[in-house]
Parts: sequence; C-alpha cells; structure tokens
Amino acid sequence: MSSSNAHPDLHVRVEDLEKKNKLLNDGLRQSGRLQALWAQSVEELKATKEKLRASKEFLSHVLTTTPLPIVVLNRLGRIVLANAAMEGLMCMPRDELVGKRMLNLLYQYDRRDALRWFRAGWNDGYQAGRHEFLLRTPDGATRLLDVEWARFSEDRVDHAQVILLGQDITERRKAEENLRLAAKIIETSPQGIIVLSADGHVVDVNSAFQGISGYDKQEILGEHLHRLVSPDAVESFQQRVWSQVGERGLCQGEVWFQQKFGNIYPVWLAIHRLESDDGEVTHYIVLFTDISERKKVEDRLEFLSFHDHLTSLPNRLLFRERLDNALVHAKRREQMVGILYLDLDGFKHINDNLGHDTGDQLLQSVAGRLKEHLRDGDTVARLGGDEFAVILTDMDSHHGVEVVARKILDAVSKPFVLGGETFFVTTSIGISLYPKDDTDIDGLMKHADIAMYKAKEQGKNAYQLYTSDMDAQAARRMTLQNQMQIALHQGQFVVFYQPQISVSTGRLVGAEALVRWQHPEFGLMAPLQFIPLAEETGFIVPLGNEVIRLACEQMTEWHDQGFPDLRLAINLSARQLRTDSLLDVVGDVLTTTGMDPRCIELELTESAVMQNVQMTEQILEALQGLGISFALDDFGTGYSSMAHLKRFPITRLKIAQQFLRDVWNDPYNSAISEAIINMGHSLGLRVLAEGVETKEQVRFLASRGCDEAQGMYYSRPLAADAFLEALHGQ
Ligand code: C2E
Ligand code: MG
Ligand code: MG
Repeated sequence: MSSSNAHPDLHVRVEDLEKKNKLLNDGLRQSGRLQALWAQSVEELKATKEKLRASKEFLSHVLTTTPLPIVVLNRLGRIVLANAAMEGLMCMPRDELVGKRMLNLLYQYDRRDALRWFRAGWNDGYQAGRHEFLLRTPDGATRLLDVEWARFSEDRVDHAQVILLGQDITERRKAEENLRLAAKIIETSPQGIIVLSADGHVVDVNSAFQGISGYDKQEILGEHLHRLVSPDAVESFQQRVWSQVGERGLCQGEVWFQQKFGNIYPVWLAIHRLESDDGEVTHYIVLFTDISERKKVEDRLEFLSFHDHLTSLPNRLLFRERLDNALVHAKRREQMVGILYLDLDGFKHINDNLGHDTGDQLLQSVAGRLKEHLRDGDTVARLGGDEFAVILTDMDSHHGVEVVARKILDAVSKPFVLGGETFFVTTSIGISLYPKDDTDIDGLMKHADIAMYKAKEQGKNAYQLYTSDMDAQAARRMTLQNQMQIALHQGQFVVFYQPQISVSTGRLVGAEALVRWQHPEFGLMAPLQFIPLAEETGFIVPLGNEVIRLACEQMTEWHDQGFPDLRLAINLSARQLRTDSLLDVVGDVLTTTGMDPRCIELELTESAVMQNVQMTEQILEALQGLGISFALDDFGTGYSSMAHLKRFPITRLKIAQQFLRDVWNDPYNSAISEAIINMGHSLGLRVLAEGVETKEQVRFLASRGCDEAQGMYYSRPLAADAFLEALHGQ
C-alpha cells in the first residue's frame, strides 16, 4: 500500500485529510438531508398556510352565508365580530356593530338578566350555554333570539372571547303562541266545537261540546256528524246544510240536534270547510250553540205579539191573519165563514164595582168557556176590553152559525164562581157572514160590530145576524149622537110620566119621569134609542139634569093644582151620580122650582150605587139631607151586596119587570118576586113592581103584599097633559 510507504507525517496528514474528507462528506451528506428536510418543511408550511387560508375563507364564507346571526364578544362584552345575518337582523352595518356593547342591543328589560348571565358564565368558567333574548332593532321592533354561546380562549383567559350563535325565533314563537291561544279559546269556548274529517266523521271536540251534547269525547270520536242531528232532521240537514257547504264553503242556520239521551234541542250551527293549499278538503269545523233558551224567549215573544196576555187567546192581529186565511180557504172551497163579534153586557160595571182583578178573572173564565164550547179549528180571539170574536169555518148555512151563537150565549150566561163568589154575565153577539155580507175583513168586522150593537139595543144577551138595513141604523145612531146637543138647546127632549099605583087601594100615588126625544125627523123616540148613546158619550149628564129640571117644574105645577102628595120618581144614571155637581144641580132646581124635596125619589140601579161605594154613600146622604129619598131600580138584575145596600139611605125596591113574567104560574119568577117583597119588607123598605101588564100579576102582587105597581096594566107613560087628565080622572 502506497500510503504505508509514505512519510509518516504525510501519512498523518492524509489520515487527517481523509478524516476531514469523511467529515466533509458526512457533513455534505447531512446538509443535503437538512436541505431536503427544509424543503419539505417549506412545502408543508405552504400546504398548511393554504389549508389555513382555505379554512379561513370557508369560515368567513360560513359566517357570511349562514342565516344564523353570529357575534363574537370580548370579555368586556363588546362585539368584536358580527356576521351578515346579524347585520340584517339589527339593520346595522357591521362596522357600527363592532365595538358596541352587546347589552345595549337588548330589549331594556332583558339587560339585567343578560348581564348576570354574562358575568356568571365568565367568572364561573362555564364553557357554553343557551338563552333566549329579546333584541331591539334601531327602528324599535323587537326580535326574539334563541342564543347558543361558547367561550373560547386563545392562550390567556383575559383574551378569551365568546361566540354567540343566535336564531331568530320571533315568528316561530308567535306562531306557537297563536296556536296555544287558539287551543285555549277552543277549549274554553262556550260554543260547541267539532272538528270533522273530510268525510264528516268526528276528529276532535271541545269541552263545551260535551256539556251541550251529553257525549263524552271518546264516545263520539270517529262517529259521523249525523249521529248528533235529530233523526227527523237528518234528511233536510243533508240537503240543506251539506249542499250549501259544498257550494259556498260554509253554512249557518238553525238545526235540530239530539242529545245523547234523546232530548231534541235547537242549535245555531255554522260549518266551515277547511282546504289544503291545493284545494283539497281536509276538515270541517262545526261551531254550534244550544239556543233552546233563546228560542223559548223568542217563541214567547212571538206568542205575546200575537196573543192577548190576559187570556192567552189570539189578539186582534192574529185574528185578522186567521180570518184572512179562512177567507182564502172558503173562497177556494166555496164555503161560508161566520164572524161572531161578542161584547159582554155590563162588564164595565163589574170591573168598576168589584175591581179590576175580579174583572180580569172573569174575562179569563169567559175566554176559557168560549174555548171549551168551540171546536179546535175555530178561532176565538180577544179584541180588547170585554170584546171577543170568533171565526167559524166550514159552514154550510147561517143556521150552523146561529147554533154556535146560541151555544155561546148559553155558556156565558151560566154562573161563574170566582174566589168563592158567584157572578153572572151575559154577552151580545153580532154576526156577519162571508161571502153574503162582505168579502173583505174590514167589511165583515164592521158588519158584525153593527149587528152586535143591534143585539145590545134589543135587550142584550142575544145574537143578531147582520142585515143591510143595520147600516142605516148605525148611520142614524151617528146622526143622533151629533144632534143631541142641539136638541137639548132646542127643547126637543120632553118628559113623560108613568103612573105609580098603590096595589091595595088602586090609587095613583106617584109618577116616574121617563124622557122622550121629540125628534123633528124621526118623531117621538123612546129612551132606549138614545140613552145608551148618551151614556157612552157622557151626554147623559146634561140630559139627566134637564130631566130633573123639567120634571120638577111639572110636578110643582101638579102639586099646586091640588095633588100636593104626588111623588116624583126620576131616573139617575151612574154617570150623573159620579159628577161633583149633582148636589148643586138638585139644590138649584129645588130653589128655582120650589119643589118639595120630600116628594122626590131618585131611582138608581144596583150597579150605579155599587160603583165607588164610599162616594155614593156620601152623595146620597147629602141628598137625603135635603129631604130626597131613593129607590133601587130594576132590582135583581144587577149586582149589589146586601152589606153595602144597608149603608145607603134607600127606601124602595123596584122589582125588575122580568121577574113578573108569568109570575102566577112560573115557580122561579114567583119565588124571586116573593123573596124580593119579603126581603124588602124585612129591611123596612117599600116594594114597587115594574112592568105590570096583567090582572094576574096584580093579583099575585096583592096576595104577596107588594106595596105599589107600575105598568101598562094601569097606564103607559103619558105626556104631561094626559097625565093630568088621569089624575083628575081617578
Ligand atoms: P126604567 O127606569 O126601568 O123605566 C121603566 C121602563 O119600563 C120604561 O121604559 C117604561 O116605559 C117601561 N114600561 C112601563 N110599563 C111597562 C109594561 O107594562 N111593560 C113593559 N114591557 N115595559 C113597561 P122607557 O120609558 O123606554 O125607559 C127605558 C129606560 O130608560 C128606563 O128604564 C130608564 O132606565 C131609562 N130612562 C128613561 N128616562 C130616563 C131619564 O130621564 N134618565 C135616565 N138616566 N134614564 C132614563
Ligand atoms: Mg126607572
Ligand atoms: Mg126599571
């Protein structure tokens, strides 16, 4: 080896060089590795930077594109970063947001909570959490945010930051609340609510439904709505309700439902159709209310507007409606309709004397009796006061109508017992017939009214069929009414005198003054033709006063002509008795005529004295104080109480003419007449029998001890000169 032969120093140097070379080679080798490593590191760094950039870009992209508002706060609670969604939410650009305290963005009342939460989170080292906050946007609106937060720190705690990730749940919360509210409303609604499937089956009901229908929810779920409808109404329900819902999407109206246990009841119902966006029916909502109570009230109101509240009979309105129907019906079938117009006789007296309660009870009883005696198809109505009307349909002739009229007269005249007392009342009936008398309602009613008036005129407790000449009479009545006042001034009223005879001696002891109207056109008219009219209008007062004056003038003459004891009976109407001036009128007449008051006997009817008993008692006592005496006229036909009669200064009873009819062989009349005579005598009264026409009656009266009599048997009422002749003739 060459190296071993070389200089040892060289050898050393070579060795050294070799070492160095080796080292150099090693170093070179090492440095190449390092270079490679460096290069690799540089590459890796590049890749990492790229990744970081991409990740940052991604993050920024996420931050900008996410719809969720995001902010990052520093530990002082100031915003260091806010994303686009946050900008949008707050309607504020990002650079305005950055640096703001998050707290100042919150709704005022939420700030304290937020602060507490922020501090606690920070100090207690929570890493994450969730809260709801109300943000207030600059325009004053509020947004509810569901916020998730997380704390992250870089290297030091005081550099830690909080990221808030919010979600705007304002609309969702509103919707939730609306839903909750709707559910509450449905549940607490007093209306029954049913949700139906598209094929009409029950899907849900509220509590009110259960209360109204009686069904538990579980019982009715899955059932068809028709299960709730009254079986009789299902068919019309199907036709009416469903077809309308089909056409218009909703329907409302009255329907009959049936409760679980069978009770049928009316409901007010509304059905709404619900559809999906593509127009398919999804559900029906049924709202319903039980209207039984309302219906009862409505029915009652309807009843009241067509019925008389006292008797529950149809009123005038319903009467006219029924009559209208009856006429249409009768026209088609060519039948007759009878209209009966009833007016109770003397009802006013009962009402005035015995009080309105008794009057009302009597009207109710009369109504009941009328209904009882008529067929179901006939209408009986109360037209007002004591006026009733009846419609008789399906009539073939006036005979049938008359049969009913007689039946009514008979039924009404039977005694009524009210509160333990017995009352008698009669009625007068006027009848008009369709189509004979008229074809329209007003005409028929007017004619029946006129006929009724005629029945009254002819003595009451009777019926009259309308005849066309009654119109003339009604017109005449109207004429008379208008002429009375003038007649009084022109002295057309004259007084006739009917002798009153002592039964035992046959001597003329007195005269009853009976007025007549010497009418320039109609001749001498009897009181029945104008007294009722005068009573109605109040003309009876001046007329009655005139009679007192004329009769007293006449009687003083006769007294002066040699008949000083002759008694003068004068009729006094109830209306005269009620005027304050009666005492003055009588006093004046006594002064001007010089008539001896002891010869005056005022005739009063029972009903006249029974009106306002106290007032009557006072006025009669005052008149009695002047020396005048009193007789009870037509005794037995009115109503009087014995207890009250005793209080009045009456000295004579006049037996009504009707009790003397066939008195010698009618056991009823003879018993009554005899009883009146006996009763009168036992009360210390004198008794006079009126309307005596036959010898038999006189005999009867004489045998029963009747004191006096008056009537055609002795004499009809006479004009003054004829009466004087009679006086002289005896
Ligand atoms: P009244 O007071 O009961 O009078 C008796 C009536 O019977 C009189 O009728 C008389 O003519 C009638 N009469 C007399 N005898 C007989 C008889 O034998 N048979 C029959 N059937 N009747 C007889 P008139 O005059 O038509 O009077 C009727 C009523 O008119 C009277 O009934 C009376 O209530 C009333 N009246 C008459 N004049 C007046 C008056 O000046 N003032 C008042 N307030 N009423 C009067
Ligand atoms: Mg009389
Ligand atoms: Mg009489």
